[in-house]
Amino acid sequence: MEKTRAGRRQAAGGRRDENKEHRLPPPASRLPNQGVAVLALQGDFGAHRRKLSEMGIESFEARRPEEIEKASGLIIPGGESTTLWKFFESAPWEEAIARFAGSGRPVLGTCAGAIVLARQVFNPAQKGLGLLDIAVERNAYGRQADSFVGVVDAPALGGELPAVFIRAPRIRRAGPAVEILATREGEPVLARQDNVVAATFHPELTDDERVHRMVFAGSARKRRSA
Ligand code: GLN
Repeated sequence: MEKTRAGRRQAAGGRRDENKEHRLPPPASRLPNQGVAVLALQGDFGAHRRKLSEMGIESFEARRPEEIEKASGLIIPGGESTTLWKFFESAPWEEAIARFAGSGRPVLGTCAGAIVLARQVFNPAQKGLGLLDIAVERNAYGRQADSFVGVVDAPALGGELPAVFIRAPRIRRAGPAVEILATREGEPVLARQDNVVAATFHPELTDDERVHRMVFAGSARKRRSA
């Protein structure tokens, strides 16, 4: 009798646990598909996804840190770096992004994304993930020219690139491990340290694919043509 009741309790407990487990199944649409994770907390993540799609590279929108774990690459889009940090502080994003970058998979940060990747951020001072040894000054083009379309010199990518700057930062210092891949009027605008790349402009807003191709070609899963 005792045994039976205990058995029943156990069975009931077991069922409760099972129910708990089944209450929050990860929606299939949110599961990493091994494509490029585009951080979709804020900013112009849609433009990056369109660019990757035009290039035949799979991507998905990541809204929780654990969703980037299995991705083949990561994009931190432009937007507002202070807002991105508010999200970063509400979930273990810092650890997730650092672990991702540490794994050697490609990471691209554009504009606000470049700012959050930096080691040092000023105007005003702000925390940086420190994944790229650069110091950046936010909103550094002054009011009149704070947003403009221009070209940048990118010999490493075959010459001039069209570039959209929107309240862009300027890279004021780059450490010895950082490679400058493009400049505008002699100043760095595209920088790489190993697998981590930062653009102060928005390569996702032009027809040119070279920046995304340089970062993701080879590692990102291609869409099946069938
Ligand atoms: N001005 C923004 C910042 O400081 C960046 C702008 C952008 O991403 N286009 O975070």
